[in-house]
Amino acid sequence: MSLLVVGSVAFDGIQTPFGSTERTIGGAATYFSLCASLLAPVRLVAVVGDDFSAKDRAVFSGRKIDLAGLEQAKGKSFFWSGRYSDDLRTRETLVTELNVFAEFQPKLPEAYRDSQFVFLGNIDPTLQRHVLSQMRRRPALVALDTMNYWIARTPEELAKTLRLIDALLINDEEACQIAGEHNLLRAAKRIFSMGPKAVVIKRGEYGAMLFHRDAILAVPAYPLEKVHDPTGAGDSFAGGFMGYLAGRRKIDHSSLRCAMIYGSVMGSFAVEQLGVERLRKLTRREVEVRARALVRMTSIRL
Ligand code: AMP
Repeated sequence: MSLLVVGSVAFDGIQTPFGSTERTIGGAATYFSLCASLLAPVRLVAVVGDDFSAKDRAVFSGRKIDLAGLEQAKGKSFFWSGRYSDDLRTRETLVTELNVFAEFQPKLPEAYRDSQFVFLGNIDPTLQRHVLSQMRRRPALVALDTMNYWIARTPEELAKTLRLIDALLINDEEACQIAGEHNLLRAAKRIFSMGPKAVVIKRGEYGAMLFHRDAILAVPAYPLEKVHDPTGAGDSFAGGFMGYLAGRRKIDHSSLRCAMIYGSVMGSFAVEQLGVERLRKLTRREVEVRARALVRMTSIRL
């Protein structure tokens, strides 16, 4: 079943101890789409500038990614750059140039308005609501990402948006910030009271946790000997999680649990090479092999 994603398509500058690039294709919606499209057809809504060439667009080719919603506007594409510490545990943002992203007014092509699975990437919460208002009917699942910038600056708008969604996918610091809690379990419970019925808290190399109804599932990050570049790991997790659900056309508790495995697996592939390099070559078969390996690593009989 089709999965709609709205978010950033960008150029990134990335500096890691293992390699750097001054300009490569990035953006949360790019990572998300490359991962999700291995599991379900994706409909992308984003804006790029006139510096985004046909060659750049080719990053999406060969995948089930509908680009009818990829708008090209006059001006420069969104540019972000960051530098990682030697142990890759911290990242300093060096540049954020919104460019055409500053005026982004997501417009859904007519054919996208019946999407049953929707991922509202990290953009202004008012715009996230604007996306939902264009849907012909209530999707089966609406999930959302956000960041400290919106949590701190537009808490009322974010609260209005949270009331309309089903699942929040967010990192641990942001979960605590939204909830005003230091404890993850209490933070998840507080977020439940704000609207979402499922909360996924991403914890980088420590894995991710799903809070749904009265149950909790903790999934580790897939262990890797070499991590090259953590950029986009969270967006790739979201792509795996949502792609799996859209592919299965199911959102019951057991599907949500399986989706956590696919999220973790996609995150692990994303970090293996610089930028989106590894994801461009990734196959469904490699995903399935790693998903099964992760399940074997985590199942215990007592
Ligand atoms: P992550 O490593 O999960 O934080 O994702 C990094 C990606 O998010 C990069 O490819 C950036 O282009 C994109 N990004 C960085 N800042 C923003 C922002 N303020 N809004 C939307 N996307 C962003």
